[in-house]
Amino acid sequence: MTDDELTQYIDDILEELRDNTGKDVSREELEKELRRFLEYGVPPDHAKQTLIKKYTTPDRPKPSTERTLIVDLKPDHPSVNVLARIVSINPRDITVKGEQRTIYYGILGDESGTIAFTAWKDFEIGKGEAYEIANAYTKEWQGNVKLNLGDRTRLTKTDDTRIPEVRSEPRSFKVKDLRGGLSAVELTARILELQEREVEASGQKKTVYSGLIGDETGKAQFTAWHDFGLKKDMVIKISGGYVKTWKGIPQLTFDQKATVETVDADQIPKKDVKTQHINLSELVDRNGALDIEVEATVIEVRPGSGLVSRCPDCNRVLQDGKCPTHGEVTGIPDVRLKLTLDDGTGTISTILGRPITEKLLGKTLEDLQGQTASQEESISKTLFGHRLLVTGNALGDDFGVTIIAHDATIHDFDIAKEAEQITEDLEALR
Ligand SMILES: [Zn+2]
Repeated sequence: MTDDELTQYIDDILEELRDNTGKDVSREELEKELRRFLEYGVPPDHAKQTLIKKYTTPDRPKPSTERTLIVDLKPDHPSVNVLARIVSINPRDITVKGEQRTIYYGILGDESGTIAFTAWKDFEIGKGEAYEIANAYTKEWQGNVKLNLGDRTRLTKTDDTRIPEVRSEPRSFKVKDLRGGLSAVELTARILELQEREVEASGQKKTVYSGLIGDETGKAQFTAWHDFGLKKDMVIKISGGYVKTWKGIPQLTFDQKATVETVDADQIPKKDVKTQHINLSELVDRNGALDIEVEATVIEVRPGSGLVSRCPDCNRVLQDGKCPTHGEVTGIPDVRLKLTLDDGTGTISTILGRPITEKLLGKTLEDLQGQTASQEESISKTLFGHRLLVTGNALGDDFGVTIIAHDATIHDFDIAKEAEQITEDLEALR
């Protein structure tokens, strides 16, 4: 779709919304959502209708009737609606509380990807059919999101032209766009780290290859369930992988059904695979990422910062001299920081270990042990309102994103220097 056509679609939607609801939806918001649908190959008219429906429905309590793309499904959601085609379905007899019953499991998909599902009763689902599925719920199972169709779920068979054949043609991605649930992924990346380990799968010993891959947009983990002859520093093109996530960190998985070819290593030079500078709104959006750098202001020094005592057995921080697992123990002293950071686009937490904490505070653990004043107060005095440059891995969960820092430095604006630069720029304009 050209930009002109996109503009036309947005105009149409805005006009319709104004006529029917008097509602003013922001153009940017609408464009963002429309683009997301189109990106996954939802036909423009269908996307348009979906968005009109979404915004004309008055603000009502959840559950909503809003459709979620499969790629956007997150674990532990109590009520989701999808429009999907059944790729496969199989019955299985199980015993629940001594009672024999039949459940159905399989795979369903839409334009964005596929997902495993379990139907806890017989919905008379037919393979290849398309359904509007309302009030289903999601769970996480072995790192994947799974869709559950339960007692409260409603299925309505629908015209299967509303949804194209489930995509099996690989689609090309960059590392930063990998999201849990994507399948038929094509990705060209450099192998940064590679480990081999033996696992037992269905009673058979198998070698699994895993590690880190990266391109010019970021880094991710990978797991290969087949010996593709991978070596560190190879640049490979993987077709037919699928993506799982753990705490927001994407993991590309591929097996013997995928094709892997070695490409010219110059396609992704080593120097191009580096720590990505990223703003906090994007990080919150992605809910995690490997090896990133953020620049943000300290808006809170959180309780538990400063001198702490750790359990000698499990390394957990002691509360009142006690470990929740090992009880009363003689703690090992340590220092750390728990900070809340804000860069104007979003807010996240970060945890900094002893070496970084000592560096930022300009004090050693021993200095802090000799200090009598309130620690949080004195740390706050040193760090509050300062800008930090933090690198590390960002892990996401229901409570938000936390960067486990590898390094951090104070990176305050040089106001005098900035003023000088602005003056120079203004001079140049005269
Ligand atoms: Zn312990």
